This record gives sequence, C-alpha cells and structure tokens, in this order.
Amino acid sequence: MNLVNDTPEQAALRAAVAGLGAKYGHRYYVEKAKSGGHTTELWSEAGRLGYLGVSVPAEYGGGGGGITELAIVCEELAAAGCGLLLLVVSPAIVATIIATHGTDEQRKQLLPAFADGSLKVVFAITEPEAGSNFHKLGTVARRDGADWLISGRKCFISGVDEAPYLLVVARTEVSGRLSPALFLVPTDAAGLTKTKIDMEITSPENQWMLYLDDVRVPGDALIGDETAGLPALFTGLNPERITVAAMGVGMGRYALAQAAAYAKSRSVWGGRTIGSHQGVSHPLAHAQIQVELAKQMVYRAAALYDAGSPIEAGIAANMAKYAAAEAANLAVDTAIQAHGGNGMTTEYGVATLLGGVRAARIAPVSREMILNFVAQHVLDQERSY
Ligand SMILES: Cc1cc2nc3c(=O)[nH]c(=O)nc-3n(C[C@H](O)[C@H](O)[C@H](O)COP(=O)(O)OP(=O)(O)OC[C@H]3O[C@@H](n4cnc5c(N)ncnc54)[C@H](O)[C@@H]3O)c2cc1C
Repeated sequence: MNLVNDTPEQAALRAAVAGLGAKYGHRYYVEKAKSGGHTTELWSEAGRLGYLGVSVPAEYGGGGGGITELAIVCEELAAAGCGLLLLVVSPAIVATIIATHGTDEQRKQLLPAFADGSLKVVFAITEPEAGSNFHKLGTVARRDGADWLISGRKCFISGVDEAPYLLVVARTEVSGRLSPALFLVPTDAAGLTKTKIDMEITSPENQWMLYLDDVRVPGDALIGDETAGLPALFTGLNPERITVAAMGVGMGRYALAQAAAYAKSRSVWGGRTIGSHQGVSHPLAHAQIQVELAKQMVYRAAALYDAGSPIEAGIAANMAKYAAAEAANLAVDTAIQAHGGNGMTTEYGVATLLGGVRAARIAPVSREMILNFVAQHVLDQERSY
C-alpha cells in the first residue's frame, strides 16, 4: 500500500522499479555481499531501463524528473531487499552537482552517461581528522601550470572499487582564503592509493581509505569554477539526505513485510498465530506507523527540493533523514524480535539489515548533527561548537 500522493507517472515508476527489485531480491543482494561481489547486473539493468537517470535533465537523455523520482527508485529497490547505496552517491549527489554547477562542456560530456547509468562516480568529502567538522577539511588542491595537484586523506569513501571516477572535495586558495572546490579524479590516477576498511555491514558496497599524494588532474577536472564549490556542495547535500532517507524507509518496509508474513504463518500456542498476540503485532504496527511517517517526510522534502525551495527543503531533508534512520532501526529490530531465533538466521534475511540501518544513523550526517541543525535553525538555539 502506498499512501504518498504519487502522480500517475510516479506510481507507474514505483510499480516498475518494485518489479525489477523483486526479480533480484534480498538473497541476490546478500550473496553478492558475502562473496565480495557487486550488484553489477542490477545496476546495469536499472540503468538500461532508465531508472538511474530519472533525475537527469531530459536534454541530456535523462528522465527529466526530480529528486522525488530518484527517491522512489531508492525506496522501491530497498523495499525489495536490494537497495543500491551508490544511487545516493552517483546520481543523487554527483549528477545533481554537475547538472547544476558543471560547465557546459562537463554537462555535455558527463550527463548522458549518468542518464543511462553507464557512468558511476563516487563522492569523497569525509576525512579522518575533520569528521563531522567540514570546516577542518585538510585536502588541498594547488595549481601547477594548467593542472591541479591534489593532496590529502579521505575515509569511508563508498564504492571506489566500482567507479572510474571520484568527486573529491579539496580546498583551493581563492582571494587569500581556502575554500572548498570539487574535482573529478580518475580512481586509477597516479598518486591515489586506496585501502579497504573492514566494515560490519552486509553490503556489496565497500568503504575505502584514500591517500592522495600530489594527484595530478587537468584544469577542466574542476567542477564549474573555483567559486562553485560551496554552492555545489549545498546542492548535493539535500538530494543525498533525501535518497538515504528513502532507502531507510525501503529497508524498514522490507523488514516489516518479512515479519508480518512470518507472524501470520507461525503458530506455537494451539492454533493461534504469533501475530494474534498483541505483544507481537503492536510493536510491528507501531514500527509500521513510524516508517510511514518518515516516508511522508521524505516525499515532502523531495517535493520542496524539486520546487526550488532550498531552505525549507534543507530542514525537511534533515528531518526526513533523521526520522527514516530511526524508523528503519526500529523496524529491523522489531522484525527480528517477531521472528524469534529465526530473526538472527541468514535464511530469514532480516538481521542482514542491521549494519545498514545502523549506519544510516551515522552517515552521511549523524543524528546528533541533525539535532544540532534543527536546534539552531528551527528552534533558534545557540551553537555549542
Ligand atoms: C557505511 C558508510 C558509508 C559512508 N560513505 C561515505 C562516502 O561515500 N563518502 C564520504 O565522504 N563519506 C562517507 N561516509 C562517512 C560519513 O559521512 C561519516 O562517518 C559521518 O559524516 C560522521 O563523521 P565521523 O565518522 O568522522 O564521525 P565524527 O565526526 O568523529 O563523530 C563521532 C560522534 O560524535 C558526534 N559529534 C560530532 N560532533 C558533534 C557535535 N558538534 N555535537 C554533537 N555530537 C557530535 C557524532 O554525531 C558522532 O556520533 C560513510 C560512512 C559510513 C558509515
């Protein structure tokens, strides 16, 4: 059941993506994660069907939709048990930034490949020393003739082994001050080395530590110009939060659907199902309501973003990300409990979501930083840091 006010086109997209998700499903996803593989077939098929390019402008071969359409794709694949984390990075952050702040040449060259999913670009902002404090970023880019030389360290960067390019946030000197700029860097560039970070998440996407030691890129690797960095980052952050939240809603839906089916089929006291005990059904119903509330907020945030209301969209996107991460954690925990011991088995496929939903409370922005944001910008409180 879908309680969001989709247009007929959005409803058709939702149904079609759900169909593709059902074809692959959670078993496929877990098999890939456990064997060290990637969800390449699913990514390619979704790309061929146009689902990865739904938010790319139509003049570049995309669907011409907005972040609402991309959120639908993220939610429905996750609800089928096979969410694609790199959707949050490549189409949501990078393609949106290039469409909005790239040069004409960059748009012409890159957007058609985002439209059909043939180009995957990952995103590197987080640094070991800076953490949540974006103002402490230490990666720098300096001019060397017509080129740029980039040096620094990045951590937890998702999907570096699956993408030919990486969008790196580095600081450049503009009028005597260091300010952020964005560079498209080949993942096999000389001077760039990567080390896999072992994570306790059942996911086919890996996280990497990156070392950039005077990585040389040409002048046109800079997205837009040197003043575009900060506005470009703000452009990319809301789509990132909205699509992560949509994935959270999808994971919550997946877990609750498994639990509802299980609770309806299992009987341990006479003929009554475990779902007939309110001790089982009420926590599931409560989690269902939390997931639905989060979902409403996701599509409100997406609608505000697509309508070009960045301030309201920023507030709604943060709230949606917070609400969806909390709801997804509640849903997965409650679904495991309803399964009893089977909740912890690989066969029933619910505990495999634990790491993913837990990470949604931390990344791309932690719940505490969202609470700081809401306290300051909605409740007008003083900043403590
Ligand atoms: C699975 C996964 C994938 C990721 N993928 C990417 C990626 O593709 N690209 C990328 O750039 N990054 C990625 N990240 C990094 C992610 O964005 C960061 O982990 C996140 O922003 C938090 O930064 P940190 O880990 O340095 O935590 P820290 O900043 O060290 O924070 C640690 C704790 O302190 C709290 N804290 C910090 N400051 C405050 C404060 N002022 N007030 C209250 N509490 C505070 C935080 O909320 C957190 O609970 C990923 C992370 C994970 C887990």
